[in-house]
Amino acid sequence: MAFSQRIRQGLRSLRFRLVISYVVVFGLLLGGVGLVFHYDLTHTIDRLQRELIDEDWDAAAGFLDIRNGQATWTVDPRKPDHSFIVDRLRRNLLIAGPDGSILEAANGYRIFGVETPSELRAIFESGQTVWRTKTEPSGAVLLLRYGTFRSGNESCLLAIGRRVTDFSPLPATITGDFFLALPFLLLAAALTGWAIAGSALRPVNELAETAQRISGSNLDLRLQGRGANDELEKLIEAFNTMMDRLETNFDQIRHFSTDASHELRTPITIIRGQLEVAMMTARTPGDFRDAIATALQEVDRLSSIVRGLLLLSQAETGQIRIRNDEVSLSEIVAELGEQFTVVAADASVRLVVDAPSVGLVRGDRTHLERLVTNLLSNAIKYTNPGGSVHVQLAETDTHVTLSVSDTGIGIAAEHLPRIFERFYRVSAGETRKGLGLGLSFVSWIAKAHGGEVTVTSELGKGTAFLVQIPKLQEAGRSTAHRSLAEARQ
Ligand code: ADP
Repeated sequence: MAFSQRIRQGLRSLRFRLVISYVVVFGLLLGGVGLVFHYDLTHTIDRLQRELIDEDWDAAAGFLDIRNGQATWTVDPRKPDHSFIVDRLRRNLLIAGPDGSILEAANGYRIFGVETPSELRAIFESGQTVWRTKTEPSGAVLLLRYGTFRSGNESCLLAIGRRVTDFSPLPATITGDFFLALPFLLLAAALTGWAIAGSALRPVNELAETAQRISGSNLDLRLQGRGANDELEKLIEAFNTMMDRLETNFDQIRHFSTDASHELRTPITIIRGQLEVAMMTARTPGDFRDAIATALQEVDRLSSIVRGLLLLSQAETGQIRIRNDEVSLSEIVAELGEQFTVVAADASVRLVVDAPSVGLVRGDRTHLERLVTNLLSNAIKYTNPGGSVHVQLAETDTHVTLSVSDTGIGIAAEHLPRIFERFYRVSAGETRKGLGLGLSFVSWIAKAHGGEVTVTSELGKGTAFLVQIPKLQEAGRSTAHRSLAEARQ
């Protein structure tokens, strides 16, 4: 395969698409986490710094008094820590009157530059808490809180600040590193994903390879289960079950073609033999007539085999249409029972038919007649003179049942599962030999009517076939009648 073609195939593969989707989702998630982290870090640093200055602002307000336009600090001399705190606070502080005139400005403040009186007045008049950052050329940063301070009847603008470390590049640095590492993370994720997808999809590839190797001669190929009770295991099981079915069907077809050619060859050989006899050795018209009569018999057999085969293959490929009439099995069994009395008498077999009136079934009368005929003729054919055949029609709540039992030669247990197969015959006396297609029809007809046929037998004692066909339900019947009546109106 050309390299470019392999690349194209690889890009279309499920494995590649899985990995790509995985990497995209993973990348988006990590990217999202990085951005949230960046935002959160920036805000947390800022919040923590402001909280410290808020504390200073409150502390300053506790010690400060404005009297007659002058700022005075009230410190209890007995508490040295108070004067320590006030000293610290006064290092970065500015107090301005309502007109913007400066009442007190710390050196620490001046370094960063003092606002003009009009600026200070504007802040005071806004009545808002204002936050500002001032940066000295050396890079030092002062974070300030401005607010109105009230003391008795007087008020002033108090600005208090702290030199803070400039953390602003920190979030960018951290998230920058994170985003720098992201491609490597994604590469690692892609490689891991590639390996995981590969091992997860291995059974699928094996399945495809096995399926490609299958031909008519190696239908015994199966996939090895992995013992994991997962979706792929189910796929493997389904594949193996399908192969079981295919193998069985193929075997049946193989048997069938061997049997069919064998069946067709026998009469042809006989016909050829008879014609040769006629040509070489027959002398009198009687000899010719005998040879031709035997040949004709075989021609009949040949054409009934071909007819039977054609019918069966049409049946199995769904080409035969089954009528959907209301049929009385009681009528069919009674009529055919009467017809077979003569056949049974010829074979010295006692035929007892019990066909009470039972529920109707929905189906095809001709096919149902064929079903009963096949079972009855078999029962008589495989029963020795002096034996008997009993036909019993009955019904349950849901089904009409037909049992055809005989006291005939019976079928050995090992043959029972196969007698419904095409051409399958338990070796029987030459005179009893049939085509081996009758029971295949019986089984197909029962199934085509939504029913089934089962068999029980004991060698030397007799055989019983039981056919069950769903009964036409009363509700279904009246609906059918009604719609028929409606159609006529
Ligand atoms: P055939 O035309 O040979 O009767 P069938 O498909 O009707 O073909 O039956 C298949 C085989 O099943 C028969 O060859 C016979 O050996 C066996 N069989 C069918 N019915 C009976 C029965 N009532 N008693 C004993 N054997 C039977």
